[in-house]
Amino acid sequence: MRKVDGLLLECMGCRKMLPRGRFYKLGKLGKLGERWRGRCKECEKPGKSARNSLRRERAKGRGTYSAAEVRRLIAMQHHLCKLCNRHLGITGYHVDHVVSLARGGSNTLGNLQILCPKCNLSKGAR
Ligand SMILES: [Zn+2]
Ligand SMILES: [Zn+2]
Repeated sequence: MRKVDGLLLECMGCRKMLPRGRFYKLGKLGKLGERWRGRCKECEKPGKSARNSLRRERAKGRGTYSAAEVRRLIAMQHHLCKLCNRHLGITGYHVDHVVSLARGGSNTLGNLQILCPKCNLSKGAR
């Protein structure tokens, strides 16, 4: 952390110059003075750092699916693997993204299908 004029500190999170009062104290260092956290109070808040909020935004856009929705999907597929029609109760199942998240797919039900582990893994190898 860079000290500037003894009053302002540069926040490592938002890179703003802020008065010391905006930082949490780490504790006293004897005669050397006080130590401060590298990031301001605002940035220390969970989810407030630029990276965290970006990740959160992305997660929001993609949506999430719940265990109940997965069960619904399995029921809609009559407990059968979408590709090989083997019974998921026997094979176990994987939740598969029709369009993978890496390609911009979402976690909405319309983009999900249930595959047996074997199909899901061979799909990934394709
Ligand atoms: Zn900050
Ligand atoms: Zn299968």
